[in-house]
Amino acid sequence: QNEIDVLANKFADMLQALREKQTEIDRVHKQLEKSAITDTLTGLYNRRHLQEIFPKLRSQAQRDWRCLSVILCDLDFFKKINDQYGHLAGDHCLVHFSKLLKQHSRSNDFLYRIGGEEFVILSICKDTDGSVAIADKLRLASADSPVVYRGKNIPLTVSCGVSFSTPDDPHDTALQRLLSRADKALYEAKAEGRNRVCVYRPSVEV
Ligand code: GH3
Ligand code: MG
Ligand code: MG
Repeated sequence: QNEIDVLANKFADMLQALREKQTEIDRVHKQLEKSAITDTLTGLYNRRHLQEIFPKLRSQAQRDWRCLSVILCDLDFFKKINDQYGHLAGDHCLVHFSKLLKQHSRSNDFLYRIGGEEFVILSICKDTDGSVAIADKLRLASADSPVVYRGKNIPLTVSCGVSFSTPDDPHDTALQRLLSRADKALYEAKAEGRNRVCVYRPSVEV
């Protein structure tokens, strides 16, 4: 009986140790999953998350007969900021802008840094006006709040291109297409002088 008790105790200890290991593995796994979809500098989502979530959001938008919008934001003359104030100041601007994104988007929007100084807001909206309003609020907020870095004020403006998939246009909803349309509108915003929001119109596509 004594030996059986000893064995049972040992077995219980082993089980407990296994449970603790499993908890630790689950924790590390969650952490890895999170870091795989997160941009380290800003804490926003990265491109991988955009690709993962897009089909789900598209289905949801179609089901609810709503628009899916892509707001593509690109900081203006960012190379100059790096050249003039240094790369660390540039990084500080990226973090500053990511905070503005959080402040001026809605709670169910998805926020991304998809490249060096390029950001995306992906959102489901009732109509196209709502998304354009968000982009414009963001643009104004950026122009109105210079970045303060080591006692210096760094003016920072942003240009945005907006594209939509509408519920009556269900075939036109591939992520690549929406991104490339937003990019065309962004190109127009840059060409018109920057610090502005342009919405994709079919005529923009050549
Ligand atoms: P435009 O108004 O036409 O967008 O001009 P721009 O200077 O913003 O665009 P360009 O593409 O010429 O330059 C982007 C710069 O962003 C170049 C690159 O060195 C800088 N950059 C990219 N990633 C990072 C980063 O993580 N940190 C910093 N500080 N700079 C970065
Ligand atoms: Mg760029
Ligand atoms: Mg730029």
